[in-house]
Amino acid sequence: MSLADRQLAAPGPPALAGSRLAVVQDQRARDAEAAEAAEAALELIDVSKVYGSGGGTLLALDKVSLSVAPGEFVCLIGASGCGKSTLLNLAAGLDTPTSGQVRADGQRVALMFQEPALFPWLTAAKNIEIALRARDAERSGPATWLTGMRKAWAWRNLRAALRARSTRKAQVRARTAELLGTVHLGGFGGKRPHELSGGMRQRVALARALAQDADVLLMDEPFGALDAMTRDLLHEELERICGERTLSVLFVTHNVREAARLGDRVIVLSSRPGRVIEEYTVPRQGQRRIDSAQVAELAAKMTDRLREEMSRHGN
Ligand code: ADP
Ligand code: MG
Repeated sequence: MSLADRQLAAPGPPALAGSRLAVVQDQRARDAEAAEAAEAALELIDVSKVYGSGGGTLLALDKVSLSVAPGEFVCLIGASGCGKSTLLNLAAGLDTPTSGQVRADGQRVALMFQEPALFPWLTAAKNIEIALRARDAERSGPATWLTGMRKAWAWRNLRAALRARSTRKAQVRARTAELLGTVHLGGFGGKRPHELSGGMRQRVALARALAQDADVLLMDEPFGALDAMTRDLLHEELERICGERTLSVLFVTHNVREAARLGDRVIVLSSRPGRVIEEYTVPRQGQRRIDSAQVAELAAKMTDRLREEMSRHGN
């Protein structure tokens, strides 16, 4: 429900005159805003980002507001250099906005890039295990293991601690196998990244992101380096995975067809500085295909909008 709808739906106060009415309406608007904010898995409010200082500053983003609802798949498109990666970095908390707010209250956020960024000396399975162990340590806190060891002064307690450790190891292995299965890499856990194709490496990166138990997945042109066929398969897999859990996705791409294929909503950014100039809601009618008429039609609309924007900026 939009803010305006909420305000309309809210029961009206009895005749209140002048400033009192304004105060009540103000409060109601604030409440509705708070409710709307609470509903979003991720929200950016009037976010601007300036790089540099003094004379050499660059405005990368200009008052960008957007939100991603739980379970929603939002695509972000825009010309190269318009601030898409900047926006994702801010959403991931890797950088801070110059002004405005990024809210991802209580949500776990994972980031996935065009390059899978796997540890080359570790197998696919070990690359995933690392993320699981990090998550495990975060959950129990590093102090728990130390505290456990301190308490294990008696031989009986030490044995219990070791048993718990081996149980955790087995759980991590089982979860790794499950995640490899999720991304259809069941038989490839023992392979190192150089033994895998580009699509397989990106699948490992996806499994590693899922291993973080993320509520929000931020993806920065994750399939940009893959051939069309592999990308098509990964679209299907990503769609299936998102259907199996409540995962909110903010997916950056400069490929309009990809955006039209995947998004529940597509947000278009202007050329630098990035501002939201258009938003398209895509009706979800069964599984979409990248070569379907529906996707082509929306992609054509978005291309026209981007062309118009780029010619305005002389790109
Ligand atoms: P996109 O991902 O849309 O291609 P980016 O977010 O990478 O765009 O960059 C937006 C603009 O900000 C570009 O002009 C880029 O050169 C600049 N920029 C990005 N990161 C930095 C940085 N760390 N320092 C200075 N300028 C940057
Ligand atoms: Mg980028």
